[in-house]
Amino acid sequence: MDNKGFCLLLDRDGVINELLPGAYVTTPDAFVFRNGVIEGLAKLTGVCNYFFIVTNQQGIGKGLMTEGDLEAIHTKMLTAIVAGGGKIDGIYHCPHLASDHCSCRKPSDGMVRRLFADFPDAARQALLLIGDGAVDLSLGSKVGASCYGMRHQHNVSEDWSDFPHREVSDFFQFAERVLSEHRL
Ligand SMILES: [Mg+2]
Repeated sequence: MDNKGFCLLLDRDGVINELLPGAYVTTPDAFVFRNGVIEGLAKLTGVCNYFFIVTNQQGIGKGLMTEGDLEAIHTKMLTAIVAGGGKIDGIYHCPHLASDHCSCRKPSDGMVRRLFADFPDAARQALLLIGDGAVDLSLGSKVGASCYGMRHQHNVSEDWSDFPHREVSDFFQFAERVLSEHRL
């Protein structure tokens, strides 16, 4: 019997919080939730078994913030998500520079392989992914996720035609589309 549930992989910048073009979120004050995220995560909590954030944070490698700074930002984020009725099971970040050629920086799939090792049951779920960049959609197609691309003012002209995806323009709309498209 197929009793698979869903595991949602979330990009962070530009999906959960407002993107700072050309800059990094290095303090909790600079972390601003995008519209509909808290409500959308709460709406999906009943239908997705797992929620993981998978995020490139090159600002650490550049020395613009520390691991501790990132942790403070994520504490603020998680507090608000949980207070709103949502949950996040794990946050995986890549601190490396693009020039490091590591195996975790998206579009590489190292962070997803690590979370599957940490949460073997998550690997057995049907995967959904939401991101606002080609690197996210590329990662999603690598790991066999149903992909959703978040369009916003800073990525309107990005070409995603290489990757199968559905487009959404805010997180609550994403949550509603997941519910309707998967007949949940
Ligand atoms: Mg992003």
